[in-house]
Amino acid sequence: EPYIPKFIEVNYIEGSNDPKWSSTNFPWTKKLEAYNKKVFGNHSFRPNQREVINATMSGFDVFVLMPTGGGKSLTYQLPALICPGITLVISPLVSLIQDQIMHLLQANISATYLSANMEWTEQQEILRELCSDYCKYKLLYVTPEKVAKSDVLLRHLDSLNARGLLARIVIDEAHCVSQWGHDFRPDYKVFSLNLFSTTATASVKEDVVQALGLVNCIVFRQSFNRQNLWYSVIPKTKKCLDDIDKFIKENHFDECGIIYCLSRMDCEKVAEKLQECGHKAAFYHGNMDSAQRAFIQKQWSKDEINIICATVAFGMGINKPDVRFVIHHSLPKSIEGYHQECGRAGRDGQRSSCVLYYSYSDYIRVKHMIIQGQMEQSPWTPGYNRTNMTNSERVLEKNTENLLRMVSYCENDVDCRRLLQLLHFGEKFDSGNCKKTCDNCSKIKTLVEKDVTEIAKQLVELVKITGQQFSSSHILEVYRGSLNQHVKRYRHETLSLHGAGKHLAKGEASRILRHLVTEDFLVEDVKKSDIYGSVSSVLKVNESKAHNLCSSRQTIILRFPSAVKPSKQSKFDATPAKSSLTYGKQSPSPVDTPAQAAQPQSEVD
Ligand code: ADP
Ligand code: MG
Ligand code: ZN
Repeated sequence: EPYIPKFIEVNYIEGSNDPKWSSTNFPWTKKLEAYNKKVFGNHSFRPNQREVINATMSGFDVFVLMPTGGGKSLTYQLPALICPGITLVISPLVSLIQDQIMHLLQANISATYLSANMEWTEQQEILRELCSDYCKYKLLYVTPEKVAKSDVLLRHLDSLNARGLLARIVIDEAHCVSQWGHDFRPDYKVFSLNLFSTTATASVKEDVVQALGLVNCIVFRQSFNRQNLWYSVIPKTKKCLDDIDKFIKENHFDECGIIYCLSRMDCEKVAEKLQECGHKAAFYHGNMDSAQRAFIQKQWSKDEINIICATVAFGMGINKPDVRFVIHHSLPKSIEGYHQECGRAGRDGQRSSCVLYYSYSDYIRVKHMIIQGQMEQSPWTPGYNRTNMTNSERVLEKNTENLLRMVSYCENDVDCRRLLQLLHFGEKFDSGNCKKTCDNCSKIKTLVEKDVTEIAKQLVELVKITGQQFSSSHILEVYRGSLNQHVKRYRHETLSLHGAGKHLAKGEASRILRHLVTEDFLVEDVKKSDIYGSVSSVLKVNESKAHNLCSSRQTIILRFPSAVKPSKQSKFDATPAKSSLTYGKQSPSPVDTPAQAAQPQSEVD
């Protein structure tokens, strides 16, 4: 039966500022504090932990937005321990679940999990225990797939619920719900539903609400700003690995860090190079067996290895407090993912670095991987958990949009990185509070606003009249009047727009073209170009959006940093209204590697 989404008006109640939830006069307060010490070994509560526990123990549905490392687990594990019945925890990664259960068992709390990979007899045994009126488990972990696929499990949950033994449903990483499709709608009148998320974009929240049918919900949120993390985006060149080596030696030598890479091959390559440079580095990815991975993790936790070169598979549930740097060797897939991965640095509150090496050609590469569904699986990566194939188009669209927002973040060399990230999570941030802890804030610069509408129109027109068959770098070459053989071959010199942008510095022209891509006027149409797996991309025009631009209903204003020492001045001829504006040449951007997008990319496994 098709699911028709009900558009429910949800009543969100802000819990964060309500003093009622901080009270120490609840009937369970004494027990709570005692168990927190005795069972979990904590001396106090972290921000919002007591409040969340009090709200859920009072029977409310809660939606908790807390950054990684904030201590979300405790807020459902303590209530699970104190309340009668069993707590169902839906959590996306088996490795994360296993980690949690290990900790719970160490603390003498009876917990187990069900996953499709388990032996059937083992599953049977657990299910049998669930039927017992004296079920020993306090917590049962399952993956979202399991909930979506297993009727047997759902029947057991029904039975637990009917017997009043289902105390609470917890959804860890609730933003994943938006990727389950609309399959999951528990009809249980459970005492309380707890939702945890480390991401809080409006659309994620909306999806969660629709998928779960929330009506009243108390929201606890805290700032996602991590003051001790220093952010920067650095142009990625061919010397990227040397740059990384140098960066670590100068800033974090012999300290602990993670380098996130796009492919398994990259992980191995980067690790090898760093070993040669004298770092204690290792790689970690999904192609290794679990024993190998466990070994690496152990070495890392004992500081026998300092640097892990990993795919996004590494990091969930890893609690090393003294990670001093997180480096992204390639473009992350989304701002959420990026924030999450950076969040693994500096959990001890000490200053730590987050450096992202960015090149536009990585965008083409990642986009292709997304389309191919090749990405290493992680809850906020594309293609994760495709339980519902009819949903895959929606997922693809979302993931390409997420990637585009990430590109836009990297292309932005003007605004505060914190502001940009927090904006994405719906949080207001005054960039004055950044105090020069991001690259854009620490640049000494003055900004010049430019109306680039005419240039933008010409670029769109150029893509159109050349037949929507060329890469962005080729279009830029033609626009800037290149006479090289490649351009000549297509006889572009005869075009009226050939060289129309010759007065523009290369960095300026490409900045505008990329803006047209990130704002969806132009689209990178990515393809595998040959049997060797190289990837190429051609620019296409998104007619519906470009229409407004070309009919002059929309203007495009961009802010350019003007160099402190202006070098060669150039005029914006193509912008009649502002033709008198001049500005310094932008520093040459190494991301402008001509025709790179059209060249074979390194093969991805
Ligand atoms: P999250 O799921 O929000 O990323 P976790 O629940 O995994 O975070 O907790 C992160 C770390 O903080 C864990 O090592 C946990 O033991 C620790 N922790 C949680 N709450 C407290 C507390 N009140 N006092 C001390 N340590 C805590
Ligand atoms: Mg967690
Ligand atoms: Zn800043």
